Amino acid sequence: MIRVENLRKSFETKSETVHAIDGVSFEVAAGEMVTLLGPSGCGKTTTLRCVAGLERPTGGRIVVGDQAVVNVEKGVFVPAHLRHLGMVFQSYAIWPHMTVFENVAYALEGRKISKADARKLTMEALETVQLAGHADRPAPRLSGGQQQRVAIARAIVGKPQALLFDEPLSNLDAKLRVEMRTELRRLQKQIGLTSIYVTHDQAEALAISDWIIVMKDGKIVEYGRPTQIYRYPANAFTAQFIGSTNLIPGAVRSVDGEHVGVDTAYGVLVGIDKTKRVRNGDKVWLSIRPEDLASDAAGVNRIDGHLDFAIFAGAAVEAEVACGDLKMFCLLGRDAPMTPGEPISLSFGPDVAVVLPQD
Ligand code: ATP
Repeated sequence: MIRVENLRKSFETKSETVHAIDGVSFEVAAGEMVTLLGPSGCGKTTTLRCVAGLERPTGGRIVVGDQAVVNVEKGVFVPAHLRHLGMVFQSYAIWPHMTVFENVAYALEGRKISKADARKLTMEALETVQLAGHADRPAPRLSGGQQQRVAIARAIVGKPQALLFDEPLSNLDAKLRVEMRTELRRLQKQIGLTSIYVTHDQAEALAISDWIIVMKDGKIVEYGRPTQIYRYPANAFTAQFIGSTNLIPGAVRSVDGEHVGVDTAYGVLVGIDKTKRVRNGDKVWLSIRPEDLASDAAGVNRIDGHLDFAIFAGAAVEAEVACGDLKMFCLLGRDAPMTPGEPISLSFGPDVAVVLPQD
């Protein structure tokens, strides 16, 4: 378990004070993978580095397992090497002059264990990442994905309390990234280690996380399961940052449980507000994912427009439809109209149109 409470970190530069983390609190349950996700500069790396002990917070507390590693008020700061954490970085920091075995065993240097035990632990770690057969190979003679697995073996060889991942896949090419994220997810579940993962890649976060924390300007803006955050984001920032979405502005006209009638430029459209936050008259957005729009006019809500352009993308037709002032981006069925200028009616059900307050 990892618990972060009211964490703060500011940096003094020549001209200003940068509040990199501004009161961040979250918990990672044993065995779970929590991802810190957000745009560049939102504070996710600094948060991870504070947990790792590579950065001294200016406020707050951090507990790893049953050890309080940071308590700024009480002057507690446990150095990185005594926190028993494994780290996997963006650059794998693999030693080119060593074999795969030596690269992993190196992480045990300085431990008071016998050579035989070190060998056993190293081989166990290599087996976990399915590289035992490559133990004697020079490290540079491995593919990018294999090098990444060496980095993971090195992070787990010392039996850490938790694993911290800092954008570990960002140096890989697109195809390998997708393969490795599945692999990482499988490994993390197999090892069962409590993990924090930092990325700015929303697709990666959706694929590998038990929970996602969305950060912006040093603060947490949302915390939830990947499916929940994707389907029912709580604010327009998350809706736009995770996946793509269409935002239709309007004002609440009626509220009936979770269903909300919204006055828009296209008439009254019905959406869903699971949080039951909005009231009559509130200014809101209706957020509709491209894949939830259809061109068959079957849904409760309908918007008329003209096809701007369409691309046949195999599994779907990617289309942009001009509806009054708005351009709606849609993933339509393969039989959707494709001729620019053609009139088109987009429809969607109330349960895929998430009502979000306009801040
Ligand atoms: P990225 O994805 O680009 O790494 P991030 O979300 O991880 O971004 P951080 O690296 O945590 O963001 O940085 C948060 C803020 O703190 C940024 O405004 C950054 O410029 C600032 N910052 C980070 N480290 C320092 C430092 N050593 N000195 C001054 N400012 C810093």
